[in-house]
Amino acid sequence: MRTVYLDNNATTRTAPEVVEAMLPFFSDLYGNPSSMHFFGGQVAHYVKQAREQVAALIGAHPEEVVFTSCGTESDNAAIMGTLYSYPEKKHIVISRVEHPAVQNTAHQLQARGYKVTELGVNREGQLDLDELRAVLSDDTALVSIMSANNETGVLFPIDEIAAIASERGIPFHTDAVQSIGKIPMDLRKTPIDMLSLSGHKLHAPKGVGALYIRKGTRFAPFVVGGHQEAGRRGGTENVPYIVGLGRATQFAMDHLKEENTRVKALRDRLEKALLKSIPNTMVNGDVKNRLPNTCSLSFEYIEGESILMLLSDAGICASSGSACTSGSLQPSHVLRAMGVPFTAAHGSIRFSLSVYNTDEDIDHVIATLPPIIQRLRDISPFWKDYVEGKPMSSFLTGGDVEHHVHG
Ligand code: PLP
Repeated sequence: MRTVYLDNNATTRTAPEVVEAMLPFFSDLYGNPSSMHFFGGQVAHYVKQAREQVAALIGAHPEEVVFTSCGTESDNAAIMGTLYSYPEKKHIVISRVEHPAVQNTAHQLQARGYKVTELGVNREGQLDLDELRAVLSDDTALVSIMSANNETGVLFPIDEIAAIASERGIPFHTDAVQSIGKIPMDLRKTPIDMLSLSGHKLHAPKGVGALYIRKGTRFAPFVVGGHQEAGRRGGTENVPYIVGLGRATQFAMDHLKEENTRVKALRDRLEKALLKSIPNTMVNGDVKNRLPNTCSLSFEYIEGESILMLLSDAGICASSGSACTSGSLQPSHVLRAMGVPFTAAHGSIRFSLSVYNTDEDIDHVIATLPPIIQRLRDISPFWKDYVEGKPMSSFLTGGDVEHHVHG
């Protein structure tokens, strides 16, 4: 069976060039980069080179790049490392659509007595920057707002957000795990203080990431140990993976144009064809300000998970925005924050492409999905009610779930 992988926001294929670059560091070049002898020194050279490669992709100085184990660690380190540095400040600002790596960290802090403001988004998934201005205070230690949303691909105006935070002298961190490698980033042009990225979203392996910390930004290590990473992250560097991340940033630079032309065109063709051939379908999020590879679609009156399973049976890998987390049939916090109607949020599917996708992949989905949707609607009591003009059940209108939404 043909495999069509359209779940690149979940993880990407490690590029063969990246694997090749990593291999010597599992065998011949196994030294510890902190060792004083030549054997460690030659490895340290490659870590330095990887740091330069990562810095080049984002317009940073190499010494501003700290290697971590993943995007989640980078996010945690940015938040905790800032709070450790400003012990007198007890307020942080995030958005309501952050990844759990930021959102759950903030919720844990809230439980420990911090004040957390979660900025809401409108129907298109966009923030109100006046609201951001209004909530900042002398007690605010950090603003942490993502660059691109993982579910919808919606881009936040991080340059403006950085400027607003900077005017007030408040550090600004952005979770750029989904945007780095897909759209350009130049930290020379914007006052972002910290930025998280993750290897496995840009064709490096899982288990490596980086945190950019602008020179002069107050930061105390989150992972405490030895003096590695200039005292900003303890632990012997994961050299093969760091070398892989370095090579992947080069791969990203080489393919950035293709991502924004060929990959974007594939995404647009897929979206257009599905909107045309399947009634009661909508795009979630601001279509004008979106990652080039991401498409979040809602198919009304059916369950996203059922769609995913039937797509999977046909060899197509996508994602659903309505994961039955902890047994509750709740649509994702992102779609709920956007106010996507329950009739649509339950049937949401995310397609996320990469440079490895082809025209044939898209043709396969365009041919396969419409009959799947029809089949599920044929057995959906909610679709039947809709077609017959009957009122919706409370399950689909949201019923009693309001109290689950974080304020
Ligand atoms: N932030 C965003 C926006 C993400 O999409 C992800 C992964 O899905 C993460 C953070 C976490 O990254 P990692 O899987 O490397 O921990």
